[in-house]
Amino acid sequence: MNAITETDKTENEDSEAAAVSEWASVSGLLRAEMGEAAYQSWLKPMTIREVVDGVVRISVPTRFMRDWVVAHYVDRLSELWRLENADIQEVEVYVQADRPPRPAAAPVAAEPVSNQGRPGDDYRSEISAPLDRRFTFDQFVVGKPNEFAYAAARRVSEAPQPPFNPLFLYGGVGLGKTHLMHAIAWHIRETGPDRTVIYLSAEKFMYRFIRALREQNTVDFKDQFRSVDVLMIDDVQFMAGKESTQEEFFHTFNALVDQGRQIVISADKSPSDLEGMQERLVSRLNCGLVADIHATTYELRLGILQSKAQQLNVDIPQRVLEFLAHKITANVRELEGGLNRVVAHSQLVGREITLEATQEVLHDLLRANDRRVTIEEIQKQVAQHFNIRISDMHSARRARSVARPRQVAMYLAKQLTSRSLPEIGRKFGGRDHTTVMHAVKKVEELRDHDSGFAEDVELLRRMLEG
Ligand code: ADP
Ligand code: MG
Repeated sequence: MNAITETDKTENEDSEAAAVSEWASVSGLLRAEMGEAAYQSWLKPMTIREVVDGVVRISVPTRFMRDWVVAHYVDRLSELWRLENADIQEVEVYVQADRPPRPAAAPVAAEPVSNQGRPGDDYRSEISAPLDRRFTFDQFVVGKPNEFAYAAARRVSEAPQPPFNPLFLYGGVGLGKTHLMHAIAWHIRETGPDRTVIYLSAEKFMYRFIRALREQNTVDFKDQFRSVDVLMIDDVQFMAGKESTQEEFFHTFNALVDQGRQIVISADKSPSDLEGMQERLVSRLNCGLVADIHATTYELRLGILQSKAQQLNVDIPQRVLEFLAHKITANVRELEGGLNRVVAHSQLVGREITLEATQEVLHDLLRANDRRVTIEEIQKQVAQHFNIRISDMHSARRARSVARPRQVAMYLAKQLTSRSLPEIGRKFGGRDHTTVMHAVKKVEELRDHDSGFAEDVELLRRMLEG
């Protein structure tokens, strides 16, 4: 940590000493909070310039650091500072001027960015979007559907030279693309803090480009984007049909690849399936490693729920987690949202988390996910599997050869849809809800004692869910 190095000599020496001691305790606290690696990267290079009229002015060596500090630490910094000195209103972060700082009252360098949300007028100050703290490799649960994309992302974040260029990540919404990109950025920032990493959405890229055009600033724009070590553009499908943005991106892309810089791209489809993209850009995107993230499996969903429950530090019964993993299959974002709602509800009303409460709280979400499997599909699939007629699902026949499959279908209807017991009963030839309840119990019992039967049921479940 650097002490005050430049101060106005006319400043009161007492307040200077006070500022140094305040900074020492504030930075000590922050160091403890953020951990050693982050401290070395972000806090240590800071220099406190002055504390004047309730404003703390700090400078950092690079623009990137300033943006990072403003995005991640400045709020906490001013909070802690206020605890030391209630007069502090604001903390401003500057980029150190290359030339020796001018003495005197004038701020040290141009482009102040403060926690008061004063936007840096210069578009460069916001070039990289802020990163989500939770999106690290540590917090990414790896399973079959995403292990390839995960390994590729790790490799990119660890390699000093681009192992493949670009890394193109694609997959449906809410499956972890943004999470992996942020994780790459975090990792590189921690292990090689002098490498410049820029992460932004394709939409922001376009917005900045248009602004640069309007302000006749394209030379700066190009310089900025072409001087980075790692450029990550999220949701590139947004560029579909945007000819001039694609054109600019194409040139940026080539310039960076030529200089051996890493590019990471994400999209909702593979390069070749993207529509409205220029042929030459598509062929560039295909040049590196294309890694897809598949739809989640039951095992991955359960793993993610367990990990999130642990992070939330709440005890959630295993059967509730299993239930959620079975029911919320659309994507991880919904799964997380569901879990958060259940936890928030239980904390609000001060009630234990139970299966019943979960079903109640998530009623709407469960219905929406239900649209995927209908009772009719279950009946058809089960009938096929056991080689009986679909009409036997509704018939009154009680022979075990048809009664057992019917019970399995009822059980699966209970598990895979959010229909109530009476509703299910009606769909099975107008049977009573107690019959359905009995079927569910019976299947659970058999499943526990007969592993062959359990496998059958599990297989059916997978087929219906997949
Ligand atoms: P995408 O960018 O593909 O639409 P996100 O990266 O935004 O999806 O992921 C949506 C949410 O799901 C995020 O909160 C993310 O942390 C979480 N998530 C996705 N995949 C995983 C995973 N494998 N492990 C832990 N959390 C995940
Ligand atoms: Mg995303």
